[in-house]
Amino acid sequence: MRYISTRGRAPELSFEDTMLTGLARDGGLYVPAELPRMTEAEIAALAGVSYEEAAFRVMRPFLGDAFADDEFRGIIARAYAGFGHAARAPLKQLQDNHFLLELFHGPTLAFKDFAMQLIGQLFQAALARRGERVTIVGATSGDTGSAAMEAFRGLDNVNVFILFPHGRVSEVQRRQMTTVTEANAHALAISGTFDDAQARLKDMFNDFDFRDEVRLAGVNSINFARVLAQVVYYFTSAVALGAPHRAVSFCVPTGNFGDIFAGYLAKRMGLPIERLVVATNQNDILHRALASGDYETREVAPSISPSMDIQVSSNFERALFDAYGRDGAAVAQLMDELKSGGGFHISQGALQALRGDFASGRASEAETAAMIARARAEMGELLCPHSAVGVHVAQDFLGATPMVTLATAHPAKFPDAVEAATGIRPPLPPRMADLMQRPERVTRVGNDLTELETLIRKALAA
Ligand SMILES: *Cc1c(COP(=O)(O)O)cnc(C)c1O
Repeated sequence: MRYISTRGRAPELSFEDTMLTGLARDGGLYVPAELPRMTEAEIAALAGVSYEEAAFRVMRPFLGDAFADDEFRGIIARAYAGFGHAARAPLKQLQDNHFLLELFHGPTLAFKDFAMQLIGQLFQAALARRGERVTIVGATSGDTGSAAMEAFRGLDNVNVFILFPHGRVSEVQRRQMTTVTEANAHALAISGTFDDAQARLKDMFNDFDFRDEVRLAGVNSINFARVLAQVVYYFTSAVALGAPHRAVSFCVPTGNFGDIFAGYLAKRMGLPIERLVVATNQNDILHRALASGDYETREVAPSISPSMDIQVSSNFERALFDAYGRDGAAVAQLMDELKSGGGFHISQGALQALRGDFASGRASEAETAAMIARARAEMGELLCPHSAVGVHVAQDFLGATPMVTLATAHPAKFPDAVEAATGIRPPLPPRMADLMQRPERVTRVGNDLTELETLIRKALAA
């Protein structure tokens, strides 16, 4: 299995090199040169198997010869052993023909754990075999960072640095990053927004001297291995609801377009998905782009669903690549326009292709809060604000086809918003009840590339 860049000018890589590299050297994102397909019989055979076995069967064709089958099974088993639910991703019925896919039973209570725990184990296995070390730098709007710190802390061949926007993550999110005690894990509070953090991260990857010097590796959802891990729960949930004999739709709270792109891959692999609904909060660039064809960035407006407070949605580039008939030069041009002018226009043909796969909707702050309250009163469910955005948007798409809304985080990760809407303060699960008492360790840093690189070099030399 070979991987190619969405901008068409980077070397083709194997799965393992794609995973260890992150961003392609031409600034693009890696995607498989060809997607493996699963037959109807193979999909039907996923019914009743464990989450781990389904994960093995769905992901195995993407790996090429990177890992032996037994080794990969061991990696998957270790990745999901720390989850607090036997089903890993249980389904719960919310309304007629509307189901909630609970993706928050991992160690940091958000769906990011599904991918991060897996790539922690994949990195460890690959680097130990090669006798190499890497420096992982990630930007986070809150949940990626805590999941990455948790997955990579204490691993032998990895140092991990997480940039989060100072003052713009929830207290639980921040503490999950700043209370990690292992010396190889560093939480950095950067001035600015998540988009600033993500832009500085991209700058670091494009500084090839620095990139090679520290062996920079990325674990943001630009890393294809992360997207791949998320494909699995689309299969397990759809099969539980009758696929491949019955089509299923998904509504996905979206920021960086990683999670919903995983759903798109599942569809391309043969899973009968009728609709993939992009659900955004008030930072609705994706909803506007699908409606108008103009991808136009605005200021980020901080919301009660902070993990979706994003204007530059990295993984959308992967969807554009397919919508433009895999024309890397065309995608590179759009991304140049985005960088220089803050936006671009999607061609008519590409827009039609995107609309064939994706519907969209948005939830305002008031609608999100109202949905949290209504879900509690009418469905008996405490939703985190991100999941509430999804459940709100899904209301417009309910019908004969089962709808699965992804619950992307545990309500206790965002207790202030949940309490404001319902009067109930959701408690943390017992295994992390002392989080608010643990000492914090964090470094403040300016929104400045040189300052960041200096700080990382110093920490690696220490
Ligand atoms: C990251 C995150 C999202 C957005 O996921 P993307 O893959 O970036 O679209 C939504 N909800 C929560 C809780 C998250 O942590």
